[in-house]
Formats: sequence, C-alpha cells, structure tokens
Amino acid sequence: MTDCVFCKIVAKQIPATVVHEDEATLAFMDIGQVNPGHVLVACKAHVENVYGLADAQAAAVFHAAARVARAIRAAFNPPGLSIYQANGIPAGQTVLHFHLHLLPRHDADGMQLVWPVKNPPREKLEEYAAQIRAQLA
Ligand code: 5GP
Ligand code: ZN
Repeated sequence: MTDCVFCKIVAKQIPATVVHEDEATLAFMDIGQVNPGHVLVACKAHVENVYGLADAQAAAVFHAAARVARAIRAAFNPPGLSIYQANGIPAGQTVLHFHLHLLPRHDADGMQLVWPVKNPPREKLEEYAAQIRAQLA
C-alpha cells in the first residue's frame, strides 16, 4: 500500500533498523523504544490486522517473534518481556499494517495496561463461548 509506513519500510523506501528478515516477515527496532530492545515483527504483505492474516502468515509471524524474543532475552536479559498486538484504533493500533511488539520489561518501567476484570458467573462464560464456537463451526 503506497501510503503505509510499514510497507515503505518493507520496500526499503524509508530506513529502519532491521534485526531479522525472512520471506514473510520483517523485524525491526520500534522507533519509540519504550524499553531498550523494543522490536516490531511485521508481516511483509500489507495486511491491516489479525483478521486478514493467512494461516502461513500467522505462523511465520509467530515463528519469527519467538526467535527474536529469545535473541532479545539473550542480548538484554530483561526480567520480563511482553508481546503486544493491537487491532483497530480502540485497541490502540496506530499503524494499520499488522505487527506485534516484543517489549522487554523491567520492574516499575512505567508501562501500564489497565485490566478491568468483570469476573462474570460461569453461565456467562458458557454464553460467550457458545457465540464464539458457533462462528468457528
Ligand atoms: P501500534 O500502536 O500500531 O501497535 O504501534 C505502532 C508502533 O510503530 C509504535 O510503537 C511506533 O513507535 C512505531 N512506529 C511508527 N512509525 C515508525 C517508523 O517509521 N519506524 C519505526 N521503526 N517504528 C515506527
Ligand atoms: Zn502496509
């Protein structure tokens, strides 16, 4: 896609600091570096979000992510590492080209994800699950 910043990075039209590249994925340093070693793993094809990923692309992205995560651990030895992946503006996605974040984590590093649990009764879980299973069938 011509005006997509990650497509431009994949096409080497704008610079990025690449750590890994294969046929289907490109992993490069996030320009914001929330913590040192913060890497983005993107699929090379312009797929906007998780819903559009072909099976092979999904497999390739997580294969690359696991490899790069191990390399980040070996290089930086962070006490934690979060994987973030946003789909859609309300979820926090700012670049509409599928990518996931590999984010080294440290105690009190300022990262926040508010997790407002509702703890519904088990019948609710069954109801929600039935709706999802109906779509998977
Ligand atoms: P999102 O909020 O969509 O999950 O994350 C997008 C990420 O892309 C942000 O963390 C942002 O710092 C990063 N980013 C945006 N533009 C560029 C760029 O031109 N180069 C690189 N390396 N990262 C970018
Ligand atoms: Zn793109």
